[in-house]
Amino acid sequence: MANVVIGLGSNLGNRAEYLEKAKSLLGTEPGINLLRSSRIYESDPADGSGQPPYLNQAVLLETRLAPVSLLNVCRKIEADCGRERTAGNRWESRTLDLDILFWEDKVIAEPDLTVPHPEAEKRSFVLVPLADLLPEFIHPVSGKPVRELIAGLKDQLRIHLYEMTV
Ligand code: ATP
Ligand code: MG
Ligand code: MG
Repeated sequence: MANVVIGLGSNLGNRAEYLEKAKSLLGTEPGINLLRSSRIYESDPADGSGQPPYLNQAVLLETRLAPVSLLNVCRKIEADCGRERTAGNRWESRTLDLDILFWEDKVIAEPDLTVPHPEAEKRSFVLVPLADLLPEFIHPVSGKPVRELIAGLKDQLRIHLYEMTV
């Protein structure tokens, strides 16, 4: 079993419900055990395009699936939660985004999958929930603790706690 961190995001429809549905679907998937969830945060969209704000959360799970199989599970759950994609519009609003942030301390470079998620270090909406989930986490590539990464953030995105408990 490998420990994996997944980042969840939603900025369309009933955002909290999509996060709940995603966790429930992940937890009932064969080969995946959901271990823990961070609190839920609300954050500005990263591209500043006037999109609605996001809810973000990070979850820790253990899995016996191969990385690409877990990616396919994530894509399936995104589709089950009504995510639609428009070609050429990468950062459009979505009911659900599931990104594989970290896979133990492994580096994965597959055509469809890069882990650690290449933007993880730069994003407050990834690092703040991550620090909730794993306060002592050290980024496997940069070797920097999550708290140091948060202190050095430049993205200037507003982020606040959405709920006290999950
Ligand atoms: P970003 O990756 O900047 O957060 P996004 O999450 O909106 O953008 P998507 O449209 O969800 O991007 O994903 C596009 C593709 O990115 C996926 O189909 C997948 O093949 C690829 N991808 C590469 N690395 C990862 C990863 N670590 N987790 C999830 N998808 C990944
Ligand atoms: Mg994403
Ligand atoms: Mg994604």
